[in-house]
Amino acid sequence: MSPSGASQPDAGKNSGAQEAPRPVEREFDPEWIRTLNEKYRPLSPEQRIVELYQDFDPARVMLTSSFAATSAFLLHIFSRAAPHQQVFFIDTGYHFPQTLEYKRKLTELYDLKVVDIRAEDWKHQFTVTDETWKKDPDFCCSINKVEPIYAIKQDFDVWASGLMRWQTEHRSTLDIFEARSGIIKFYPLIDVSREQRDAYIKEHQLPFHPLVAVGYSSIGCTHCTVPGMDRSGRWNNSPKTECGLHL
Ligand code: SF4
Repeated sequence: MSPSGASQPDAGKNSGAQEAPRPVEREFDPEWIRTLNEKYRPLSPEQRIVELYQDFDPARVMLTSSFAATSAFLLHIFSRAAPHQQVFFIDTGYHFPQTLEYKRKLTELYDLKVVDIRAEDWKHQFTVTDETWKKDPDFCCSINKVEPIYAIKQDFDVWASGLMRWQTEHRSTLDIFEARSGIIKFYPLIDVSREQRDAYIKEHQLPFHPLVAVGYSSIGCTHCTVPGMDRSGRWNNSPKTECGLHL
């Protein structure tokens, strides 16, 4: 496939153009997932993370961070409980410069092992020239966020991220462990309230993303983020609330 722009990338579209390779989906025993949830529910987020490395092969644990508004919360806990854990950052090519600066700052502060992943260049360039975020943000997110994760996902059994129930309607339905799209999702912060998060941030004096000070509560790509409470500033001209990574 040429990067000339003559072809359109296909991430689930029906044009017949080249499809991104998708890993073979694995299945997990629901009874095992239920047992894991029961075991981890009484634990604190820190204890859950420590326990994770007893129950899973540490080399098969994947952690992602968007280095968004309050990403320091999860990263600080992980850096203390599992200092050797790699942190994958999806570089969409559309981040605010302040996000890249925040990433640099947290990496230095907590000695993080950050690995950047991104879409194939010709596919990303297609979204640049096509301005795909304007007409089909799901497709743009699929190319720039979902596909880079799919490319590495099969190397891991469990995927940790910092979702919390109060953030969106979809997130309000999640448990600590979920079998989803061929991997086990692990949300150690899922039942942490906004007040508990803020108290932890204050106690440990964690730095916020610089854009929080000017009214942004949730921070993604420049094209799809405006100031606003909670996630109201994301894709604010469409019903979209999730980039697709966690669906
Ligand atoms: S958040 Fe917006 S610019 Fe970023 S990948 Fe999704 S649609 Fe594209």
